[in-house]
Amino acid sequence: MSHIFPRHTAMRLPRAVKGEGSYIIDENGKRYLDASGGAAVSCLGHSNAMVRAALHAQLDEIAFAHTAYFTSAAAEELADALIEVAPEGLGRVYIVSSGSETTEAAIKLARQYHLEKGDSERSRIIARKQSYHGNTLGALSAGGNMWRREPFEPLLLDMSHIEPCYAYRYKGVHESLEDYGIRAANALENEILRVGPETVAAFMAEPVVGATMGAVPAAPGYFRRIREICDKYGVLLILDEVMCGMGRTGTLFASEAEHVRPDIVCIAKGLGAGYQPVGAMICSDEIYHAIEVGSGYFQHGHTYVGHPMAAAAALAVVKQLTSADMMPRINRSGEKLMALLRERFADHPHIGDIRGRGLFLGLELVWNRDTKEPFVPAVRLHARIKKNAFEHGLICYPMGGTIDGKHGDHVMLAPPFIVEDQQIEEIVDRLEQAINDSLSETG
Ligand code: PLP
Repeated sequence: MSHIFPRHTAMRLPRAVKGEGSYIIDENGKRYLDASGGAAVSCLGHSNAMVRAALHAQLDEIAFAHTAYFTSAAAEELADALIEVAPEGLGRVYIVSSGSETTEAAIKLARQYHLEKGDSERSRIIARKQSYHGNTLGALSAGGNMWRREPFEPLLLDMSHIEPCYAYRYKGVHESLEDYGIRAANALENEILRVGPETVAAFMAEPVVGATMGAVPAAPGYFRRIREICDKYGVLLILDEVMCGMGRTGTLFASEAEHVRPDIVCIAKGLGAGYQPVGAMICSDEIYHAIEVGSGYFQHGHTYVGHPMAAAAALAVVKQLTSADMMPRINRSGEKLMALLRERFADHPHIGDIRGRGLFLGLELVWNRDTKEPFVPAVRLHARIKKNAFEHGLICYPMGGTIDGKHGDHVMLAPPFIVEDQQIEEIVDRLEQAINDSLSETG
């Protein structure tokens, strides 16, 4: 028996021994159709030739040189490639090893930016309920996922959490989607005024919410209003695109569809596509300039910042994501998957909502479609769906979340961008089987 520390101590997981396009193959030869890339990671599938070649070439040159002494061609080229396609005004890239490291770095950079400007009172981060920004203590403090936070609550930093933008549950019956978007965004202004504008450093949010809500885009106009509020009070806007960025929602940066420019954007999962642990925090020229003319030093760092192997893999990924046919392909496949889900589940008595953008789609399961009453948490419907889907050879991302005491079960789908039409049909078939098996187990 191995001495590895597994996620669930009682679970015996199969060994993954090979990756082939959209499939993972285990030690017994069983093939799993990877419809979520773990958690929206494997955007190029599991055997991408260009990334493999880039990694071999980098390993032949140099694997590591500490950034206290050196930069590397791979890290410089990755930064240049990202800035060429990043939202306007963003000019500097800080390369780290994970999503949590990007959000931690963003929180600290926001604080240091205000300090450099002589605004030493500004330290508060405002984020949202039902959000996830990572598992390190700063990132966890920003996140609003109660299940992840609860055991560590005494260790967490004091941050504010406003209501998420979640039309399925919070839009008024007679309210337009646009009016709801403005109303939801105004919660930020209320919170800034409540805590005192002079104390607020940044607002952090996922443009399309992933793990905690299952691919929920904001209502139209929500982020434009958020940007106005941030500008009015001198608050930085940090967009966490760790999950929804890098083409996942059909534009390279999810913020493009919202027509807003963040001050800092965090990317990770799709950036390395699973070939290397890598993330990047991209910040505005203005923030960088404040540090450049101030202390001249970002008071942060990790041993593996700017790691050449990670940067080489990410560069090979970004080159493919920015090829002319990639976004149209993602949108075409996303539309097909959405159409099939709608066709298959339109009349399903327990599917309350089907949502998402690009190849980032989610289903919300409810006990009662009319009242939107969720299943009782003890049923653990999401866990049953995960297990049954896995048995049917499908990897998807079911989760349960709590909103104001209401439990919700959802399933998130984030297949690789190379997914083929016939595989999209297979995803929907296997998911339907897994959902129906799980519902019949619950009686
Ligand atoms: N931010 C978002 C939006 C995420 O979805 C995640 C991971 O799921 C993270 C941050 C943390 O990333 P990591 O698990 O790579 O630390």
